[in-house]
Amino acid sequence: MGSGLLIIATRIIRAGAITALILLLLGASTLVLLHMLAVGRACRQSLRAVNRAAGFLEPGNGLSSDDLDNLPCFEISTQNGGGEGGADGCALCLESFEPGDRCRILPACQHSFHARCVDRWLVRSPFCPMCRSNAGRRCSDSSSLSGCAYG
Ligand SMILES: [Zn+2]
Ligand SMILES: [Zn+2]
Repeated sequence: MGSGLLIIATRIIRAGAITALILLLLGASTLVLLHMLAVGRACRQSLRAVNRAAGFLEPGNGLSSDDLDNLPCFEISTQNGGGEGGADGCALCLESFEPGDRCRILPACQHSFHARCVDRWLVRSPFCPMCRSNAGRRCSDSSSLSGCAYG
């Protein structure tokens, strides 16, 4: 009689222990899962912040290729080797304009640069690298400036 009760009690204790163990494992794995989710979310958030910070340098914020085509450009010849608009060098690569160089002049501020230099800049930022005026602003009387004939 007494031993029968003892066996039942032992079984109950053992079942309880197994249940406790299973619950413990479940709890631990849930914690690990939650931790991974939290870390993943934090990573995604910081990644978004970095992308936002770098956004102003990403292609897409600047001018489109159509806008670039609308900006007047000219080729340095021996006659105007000094450069149009009073400039005698490109502020982006710091090289002077040589005959044959294809240059672009920004209508808003009349600053001129090598086309290859300023195009690379303008696809990232629509502002003049020298004076920060908006290079994408469309000039109403662009007929006075020669359009790009080399597009
Ligand atoms: Zn240049
Ligand atoms: Zn400028």
